[in-house]
Formats: sequence, C-alpha cells, structure tokens
Amino acid sequence: MTSLITTRSELAAWIKAARQRGQSIGLAPTMGALHEGHLSLVDAARRDCDLSVTTIFVNPTQFGPGEDFTRYPRTLESDMEKLASRKCDMVFAPAMDDIYRPGHATTVHVAKVTEPLEGRFRPTHFDGVSTIVLKLFQLIPADRAYFGQKDYQQSLLIRRMVADLDVPIEVVVCPIVREADGLAMSSRNVYLSSDERQRAAALSRSLRLGKQLVAEGVRDAGTILERMQGVISEPGGIQVDYVALAHPDTLEEVREVSGPTVALIAVRVGKTRLIDNDIFTP
Ligand code: AMP
Repeated sequence: MTSLITTRSELAAWIKAARQRGQSIGLAPTMGALHEGHLSLVDAARRDCDLSVTTIFVNPTQFGPGEDFTRYPRTLESDMEKLASRKCDMVFAPAMDDIYRPGHATTVHVAKVTEPLEGRFRPTHFDGVSTIVLKLFQLIPADRAYFGQKDYQQSLLIRRMVADLDVPIEVVVCPIVREADGLAMSSRNVYLSSDERQRAAALSRSLRLGKQLVAEGVRDAGTILERMQGVISEPGGIQVDYVALAHPDTLEEVREVSGPTVALIAVRVGKTRLIDNDIFTP
C-alpha cells in the first residue's frame, strides 16, 4: 500500500516510526505528472532501501516570471496509481503553504556550477531548486536521494550543496529514460503538439551524432557542436538556447573532447522548453 501524506505532522510521525523500525529510506523528489523517468528513481530507491518515498510538489520558487507554473500538469490521482503499481511506500504531497509558511525569507544559493547554461536562461531557477531540495531533505532525512541525469546541471548543484552543507544523504543520479524515438521523457512533453513532438526527436538525434563523431575520433568541440546544431535545425521550428560541450564536473566549456565531456542542449519547440544531455567519452 502506498500511503499519501499531505501534512508535516503526519510526515514527522511516519518518519519517526520508520526510524524506530530501523528502516532505511530512499527519496525521489518530483513535481508530479509522473512518467517512467520518475518511476525509474522510485524503482532505484526501492531496490537500495527498505522504504521508498516520493515527494510531489510543484515548487513555485523554481519557476521564473512568465514560465509555466500555473499550467504545469497536476495529476495526483494517476500519479498515486503509478506509484502504487511500483510499490512506493509513501508519497508526500504537501500544500504550498505548508512548505512556504508565512514569513519565509531564506534562499539556498549554490554558486559557480549554477551560473552557466540553465543559469543564464533561468536566473532564479536553481535557487528555487536548492531551497526546496534542502527543505525536503530536512523534512525527510533519507539515507539516499535519487535524481535524474535528465537535469544534469541540477544533479551537480545538489551534489555540491550536500557536500558543502554536510547533508548526511547520499545522492544517486539515475540514467535518462527515453521514449522509443529517443526523446527524453519529461512532464513538459504533454505540451507538444503532434508536429512539435516529431520535431523534438532532433534533440536526441543530435546527441547521438555528437557521440558518434567522438567515437570516430573527432575532438574539436567547434566541429562537433556545428554538426549537432545542424541536426537540431533540420526539422525547423526549434529555437536553440544552447548546445554546449562542457567539463562534466565544472560545466566549463571545452575546446577539445579529450576526456569525459557532457553535451548539453536546451531548446524551445513552440512554447515548450526542452533540455537533454549525454556524456561523451573519447
Ligand atoms: P521533475 O518532476 O521534473 O522535477 O523531475 C523529478 C526528478 O525526475 C528529477 O531528478 C529529474 O531529473 C528526474 N527525471 C525527469 N525526467 C527524467 C527522465 N527522462 N529520466 C530520468 N530521470 C528523470
């Protein structure tokens, strides 16, 4: 049975009971509208820990002005069915004002790794992410917390925050789960029209080409990026925010692919913003 908990006080009682039984907890924080990518985190938590916990909270502070906070899909009932089918033990789905209480005035800011790429295009996003994730870590003192490589820069900032603030939780990053045509699963994919949905497959095609070029021995970042850009432009109607090759830990852009390198893409297809990435290893 998957318990649904919506208040801090019920949550505290549940955590206390789990601790008294000596059970370990694996946590998968999400904003809901769950798909197989999210569920892979739940599966990993269940595999590694005695209890798996999922949080569902559409966190307002990580959305910028004009972003999709109000229209973000909210599908708690079907999310609960999916989580029950994956034997998630507990779902914490708090109300907004139980998380951000009157007078809330604290923001967690992780510097450096948050600055390039997404940080340029969504300048307030990562402060919202680090603040909510630290709050969830305080409310749910899990043994391990599971995040997706899909949000690569986010996974780096969470590792940084956990190390810098001595949070006693092990961060586990799980592989990107994709649709049959390669499109990375995302709650935002439901915004795409069928035409946009087809075009969106160009992102993963571009990553595959980049990976292939590296496998064939191409090392010059400029050459690889140009070819990747070409694949993204092919179907038309895709605005590129960035295509980058960067150091996998610092996100500093590289000129040569001489070691493991992360390729990161962010685009807008119509009104929908999509991101994807992969690691290229020469
Ligand atoms: P979100 O609900 O978008 O905040 O995502 C919650 C968690 O699920 C984050 O750690 C994401 O990186 C992860 N996630 C989202 N999409 C995928 C995917 N396609 N594959 C793996 N993990 C994912």
